Amino acid sequence: MTPHGLDGPTPAVTYTDADGGRHEIACAYVAGCDGFHGVSRASIPEGALTTYTYDHGVAWLTVLADALPPRHALFGIHPAGFAAQFARGPRASRFYLECGTADSLDEWGDERIWEQLRLRLGDPDLPTGPITEKLFVEMRCFVADPMSYGRLFLVGDAAHIITPMGGKGMNLAIADANVLAGSLRAALREGDEGPLAAYSETCLKRVWDHQEFSRWMHEMMHEAGNVTLAGPFRRQLARARLERLFASDAAARAFADLMA
Ligand SMILES: Cc1cc2nc3c(=O)[nH]c(=O)nc-3n(C[C@H](O)[C@H](O)[C@H](O)COP(=O)(O)OP(=O)(O)OC[C@H]3O[C@@H](n4cnc5c(N)ncnc54)[C@H](O)[C@@H]3O)c2cc1C
Repeated sequence: MTPHGLDGPTPAVTYTDADGGRHEIACAYVAGCDGFHGVSRASIPEGALTTYTYDHGVAWLTVLADALPPRHALFGIHPAGFAAQFARGPRASRFYLECGTADSLDEWGDERIWEQLRLRLGDPDLPTGPITEKLFVEMRCFVADPMSYGRLFLVGDAAHIITPMGGKGMNLAIADANVLAGSLRAALREGDEGPLAAYSETCLKRVWDHQEFSRWMHEMMHEAGNVTLAGPFRRQLARARLERLFASDAAARAFADLMA
């Protein structure tokens, strides 16, 4: 799939079907919803976008297992590293384990995974089950500004990625799509291109707000437990942040508001 003529009045998308046939779709607008590695953002000329990146310097191993989920999401802050468990249906859980950026799956056999989860989640009786997926997640952030070029509008991971801390990636993608749908409706039904012109600015406000929250939470969850990562001073700051959530109703409410 390749977008064409994005900076003119008549953009088009060409693609090849499963039988090798070439097709062209004439478009009024193009929505680039093809994820971080898609062709949409790559088709924007160099220099038209400013990109921002940040690497947290750690990785997560994420594991999907047919293991009974907890009633509430669990976060484990431990000197051995961060861990978490979330429900993924009535009989399945997704687990996360902080690990090194150079770790390989060979180093993370099932036995080590369960042993580290029991340790970091503080539950010697943690329900286990067959592991159905194991993969590493890069703890990396990326934002492209603006989220549009001519008649192309980038949506979701095509425009920005965020670490899983805070669970905002899919939520941001849906929020972008919602803003774009409303903006396209205004342009096509009412002839008002104002919302489309403001699309990028509208979405980027939310994107940066969520990036900030995710980064704040990442530091708290990792540094409060891991002395070696950022040093003892940062560890004390992270602990103070964590304790504030339990000591102050206002801080707890602000956290819940951002999290939800
Ligand atoms: C392990 C993990 C856990 C996560 N957990 C959460 C969570 O709990 N909460 C949350 O909010 N987010 C979470 N996320 C992030 C979330 O999955 C992404 O932010 C979200 O899927 C982005 O949606 P998207 O539609 O923009 O991109 P994608 O989901 O990447 O979808 C893009 C689609 O475009 C398709 N595509 C690409 N190129 C082409 C092409 N040339 N032609 C046709 N199709 C193409 C791809 O095949 C893909 O289906 C998690 C991510 C990971 C990796």
